[in-house]
Amino acid sequence: MVSSEKDLSLLVPEKLARKYNLFPIEETDNSLVVGIEKNNIYALQDLKLVTGKNIIFRELPKEEINEKIEIFYGNFIDINEDYSNYLFQDILEKAIYENASDIHIEPFSDLFKIRIRVDGKMKEVSSLILDLYASLASVIKYKANMDITEKRLPQDGRIDLKIKDVVVDIRISTVPTVHGEKIVLRLLRRDSFLKTKKELGFTEVAINKIDEIINKKTGILLVTGPTGSGKTTTVYSILKELKDDSKNIMTIEDPIEYKIEGINQIQVNNKVGLTFEKGLKAILRQDPDIIMVGEIRDVETAKTAVRAAITGHLVISTLHTNDAISSIARLIDMEIPVYLLNASLIGVISQRLVRKVCTDCSNEITITQDENKSIDTAIPIGCDQCNGIGYSGRTAVYEILQIDDEIRQAVQSNKGSNKIKDIAIKNGMITFDDSYTRLIKEKITTLEECIINKEILY
Ligand SMILES: [Zn+2]
Repeated sequence: MVSSEKDLSLLVPEKLARKYNLFPIEETDNSLVVGIEKNNIYALQDLKLVTGKNIIFRELPKEEINEKIEIFYGNFIDINEDYSNYLFQDILEKAIYENASDIHIEPFSDLFKIRIRVDGKMKEVSSLILDLYASLASVIKYKANMDITEKRLPQDGRIDLKIKDVVVDIRISTVPTVHGEKIVLRLLRRDSFLKTKKELGFTEVAINKIDEIINKKTGILLVTGPTGSGKTTTVYSILKELKDDSKNIMTIEDPIEYKIEGINQIQVNNKVGLTFEKGLKAILRQDPDIIMVGEIRDVETAKTAVRAAITGHLVISTLHTNDAISSIARLIDMEIPVYLLNASLIGVISQRLVRKVCTDCSNEITITQDENKSIDTAIPIGCDQCNGIGYSGRTAVYEILQIDDEIRQAVQSNKGSNKIKDIAIKNGMITFDDSYTRLIKEKITTLEECIINKEILY
């Protein structure tokens, strides 16, 4: 029996072909010859089940198979496909070059826009004719292992890529909008998670303080801040420094943003009921020394984390609070009794990010605030190096609170946040104001940037 390629492609569903990277070559009455890179028992079973035929594998080079799959199933492929592949590569390279954290691809009525987020701010990179949109979307969805034909429901997927020597994990999400799917690509550069505390912007004094907290070996260290404040990166850099063959380090995260060799990382999976709380409970049965909980979002997770901390584990987690002191009140809100809070909390790092002024073009000026006070500050100018923005890269501003007996007493006797903060400052807490002042003084950022940042803060 001789079948056309079209007939053959109907025999093997596209999903299966793409899943195992194979394509049907030839059909006889009771057998099907299938091209595949390497013999695969699961593929064999699935093919048998679907076609009801004996399967004969013919090993072929991967490129040839890929090409055939596109010819067989590539109904989405049109004259724009090559161009879209090129366009996608181009967009990624530009985003990486500019150190963007996200790429937004947004269809409108007669064009689509590509915008990127750099140092926390969105900017447009191009507006293109809508004709190119569909094939670009298909190329991205195909690469991310998403359903190309599904355009009415939100989807997510991921691509791991190496672009100009930079390994990037790309998280893709699509959402149907009135003019088509809006696609957001979140770029996670592997190297950005490998930074030391110093590279993240922590001073020697701050690093010593953090190390002192961690050296307690049991208790909870919280890293707090809003989304995009760099707290995950800080947690990873701490974990990486703690990593050591003599310790069992386990994490429960959502999502796992960076895989660290030698650390046991668990991905939250709400669909099957693997929540932060469940994962954490499972970790506790695995004899851990150090536990990282991606985020304390609910009462049960908070309670389990506290219990882990008072039973001899170092727990590191993140919390959504604006500053270090308010984390105490937040934990009390989460039904943690004061005596347990005092027995478990050892420190809080609260942080956010400010843009660094471009060192190639910044200028210095003196701003007189009143007759007694003037401030020397860098001001942004804009040059080729910083794409005319005047800023390049970001650094951490932070608070570091180390819990001591005097603070515990204040918490125990229900003293307000202001009183607790006064005690903490007296005992050496590093505050946001300390950080801002230093960054301005050292001309790492500008007065203007700090004012904008503080306005978001308070
Ligand atoms: Zn510049």
